[in-house]
Amino acid sequence: MGIDAGFDMVPRLSKGVVDKHNWDQFISSIKQHYRDDPQVETKPNYILFKAGERPKLPFEGHKFLRFSSKVSGAKAAATRAQSYIDTVTRVARVHFGSRVQCWNDGADRYGTYDWGEVNESIESYEQPESHTSIASFLTGSDPIKELGIPVFEIKTIPGKGRGLIARFNISKGTRILCEEPLITTRPMPPSELELFLAARLKALPRVSQRQYLSLHNNYPGKYPFANTFKTNALPCGAGSIVGGVYPTICLINHSCIPNSHNSWDSNAKHETIYAIRPIKAGEEITIPYDKGGTSATRLAFLKEAFGFDCTCRGCSRPPSDLQASDARRLRIQSLDDAIGDPYRMQSRPRQSLRDCRSLLQALEEEYDGCAGALGARLYYDAFQVSIAHGDQARAGVFAERAYRARVVCEGEGSPETQRARALARRPADHNSFGLCSMKWKSTRGMVPEGLDTAQFERWLFRE
Ligand SMILES: [Zn+2]
Repeated sequence: MGIDAGFDMVPRLSKGVVDKHNWDQFISSIKQHYRDDPQVETKPNYILFKAGERPKLPFEGHKFLRFSSKVSGAKAAATRAQSYIDTVTRVARVHFGSRVQCWNDGADRYGTYDWGEVNESIESYEQPESHTSIASFLTGSDPIKELGIPVFEIKTIPGKGRGLIARFNISKGTRILCEEPLITTRPMPPSELELFLAARLKALPRVSQRQYLSLHNNYPGKYPFANTFKTNALPCGAGSIVGGVYPTICLINHSCIPNSHNSWDSNAKHETIYAIRPIKAGEEITIPYDKGGTSATRLAFLKEAFGFDCTCRGCSRPPSDLQASDARRLRIQSLDDAIGDPYRMQSRPRQSLRDCRSLLQALEEEYDGCAGALGARLYYDAFQVSIAHGDQARAGVFAERAYRARVVCEGEGSPETQRARALARRPADHNSFGLCSMKWKSTRGMVPEGLDTAQFERWLFRE
């Protein structure tokens, strides 16, 4: 006997390219997550979890109905099975949202599918199907090449030059693009930079040279290479003085309410773009170029630095909405400053946590519930306030939330995501553990159970 638990995919995934893409992303997150776990084995057609009833994840998502196992019984094995169920469910949620339906026989919540169809689906994992029909249906061209079909296309957008347009509906947390830089460099005087870039460009393959030279240059005239760099470079990591230029990523246009997040992976040495909110087919993919502030501040900055008048949906709101947005942006700035004040975190930590909660609400409102990396940063701030006063229970929850937000905007494998994940498990490993005081001392296990959402949030933010 024993209790069965797991999740069903409802409705099941189609053979379409979007579902396939999302499933591939999910499978690669799982592989990455368990790369050092010998109990999780990659077979030719599926991933096998060697615990409990040895659940599997097929590489063909349309075959998948259920991931489950018995989670009671012999202790160590059951605990391991439970941990696989929990983690796989959590990662699946990031990729498929409410399509992931959890159930647990012990709590009288049952799955959608009957065991007959589930077992049939699992048996079908063994026989891979050809993808030919799907891919050629979409493009009418070489199916092998099209298996890696990008989710966007490059188009000319009136008044904006080139940009990236979603070919399909893209779900939140999808990796849209990953690119290595054509060139990276530190800041230098323009004449020196021009010579440096000329030498570097000369050493690049011709296709890369053409890609570089086709990028927009906002400052025509003297120093064409340096000014193209200045127009397009993205910092290699938040606050880094090293910038990188990319063939496709540099075509992504700006929005003050972006739908995507760009980040530098310092281990892999590449830049990734992830969807931080659902993007509809035909919608433009956007990232933020601005440094925050009110609409007037942003407009002035974008005009000065990039030479355009922002007409994004954030800036073209009706006047009363724009006024409300400006007020929120000012509030976001002042809360952010207050939270970053170390003296305040030390002497009035409860107030710092309250500011974190207010900032969270302001961000949710301003960014329609998809604050991306700003949300991840905020949860990390709340983590720091808690751990500096010895509170591992709350710090663990905040790190867990920071981790989930990072997965959405940078994927499972990014160093920042992995760092948040490690802190969620062992908050006390952070070097500011107990740095200010131990007045909030708690262990990681002291997270209360049985609270409803509102009660839990009040506990979490010490209200
Ligand atoms: Zn704007």
